[in-house]
Amino acid sequence: MKKVFSLLSLLLVLSSSRVYAESFNLNIDGKNTNVNEVNVEIDGQQLNTDFKAYTASGSTLVPIREITESLGAKVDWDAKTKSATITLSEKIVKLQIDSSVVYVNGDKVFVDTSTMPKFATYSFPRKEVKTMVPLRFLSETFGYEVGWNGDKYIASVITKKEEKKVESASIDFSEKEIVKYENKSESKKEEVKKFVSKKIKSDGLVTILLDAGHGGSDSGAVSVDGKTKEKELTLEITKKLNDKLLENGYDVHMTRETDKAVDLYKRPEIANDLGAEIFLSIHINSSENSEPSGIEVFYAPALSNKLKEVEQSPLAESLQKSLIKETGAISRGAKAGGRLVVLKNTKNVAALAELGFISNKKELDLMKDEDYQEKLVNGLYNGLIDYIDNYVE
Ligand SMILES: [Zn+2]
Repeated sequence: MKKVFSLLSLLLVLSSSRVYAESFNLNIDGKNTNVNEVNVEIDGQQLNTDFKAYTASGSTLVPIREITESLGAKVDWDAKTKSATITLSEKIVKLQIDSSVVYVNGDKVFVDTSTMPKFATYSFPRKEVKTMVPLRFLSETFGYEVGWNGDKYIASVITKKEEKKVESASIDFSEKEIVKYENKSESKKEEVKKFVSKKIKSDGLVTILLDAGHGGSDSGAVSVDGKTKEKELTLEITKKLNDKLLENGYDVHMTRETDKAVDLYKRPEIANDLGAEIFLSIHINSSENSEPSGIEVFYAPALSNKLKEVEQSPLAESLQKSLIKETGAISRGAKAGGRLVVLKNTKNVAALAELGFISNKKELDLMKDEDYQEKLVNGLYNGLIDYIDNYVE
């Protein structure tokens, strides 16, 4: 009997030493629901909340007051319609309890049912009804990057807002469009004339800087089984792309060539110091949900960026189109991601490609596969060359 008991406790110790999510019960929609606890980190700091964030069917939901306070956003709650208006910098997000319709600056956006805001009744640490909102959707809408560690159930939001001063690019204004944009950083709206060039002028060889996302102590997203890290896939693919560009006579550089940490703010600095006409950052996506898959490419719109003098979307669109053509993956589109540090702080044309979801088993297996990596490399290569052929003179 004693033997059985000690064997049992050994098994218990073994199983608890593996990192599984803690689960707890909540009342959602009148039903007692078992959810998995999620640790939310904002810029490396644990979110200050008595009520645990959780994931029930894939998406992480967080208590509205705690998350908005920590992001520095303002919330207005309308009890009659059960809707919240969250305001942060230039974004106004309106969400309603149990509604998959969200308004972002007045534009209707549909969210997944697992992402819908909910009332949740906690019994721990005290009985309280909390308004729960989707962490990833909100953070990304406000332009923040969200990482997911599926092994440890940690969702991490990076908000670092500080901008480093960078000299403004010297670009020949021969072929410019005059456009207007509103400078909303002042309380009064001020009209500013901004020049945005469609094309890049290059004297001689185009310089390309490739940026393999993460590295060293920063592993980026990690696969559910803990075996594959984003930093490894990004480096493998970036190196192959670098080789292909070198073979074809391009002036190409990398922000890192080994598994080392490179500060996020250092990456755009390297691009600017190098005078790289093109900056391409390579990442692997991740979601709390195992479903999402596909490729997306981000850019920082020149009109809302003081540093940029060249239109940014053509590079992202060219890469997106070419990646989908080569891989046949689901297209999530070329998207504006103006708050991403590496995009907003680079002077010239920049794009950030998310090549697939590490959280999707099928896509993860593809991304580890040599043949599929070659397709990704060809997609990136052809996208770059198409852009250079059409937009660099
Ligand atoms: Zn990444």
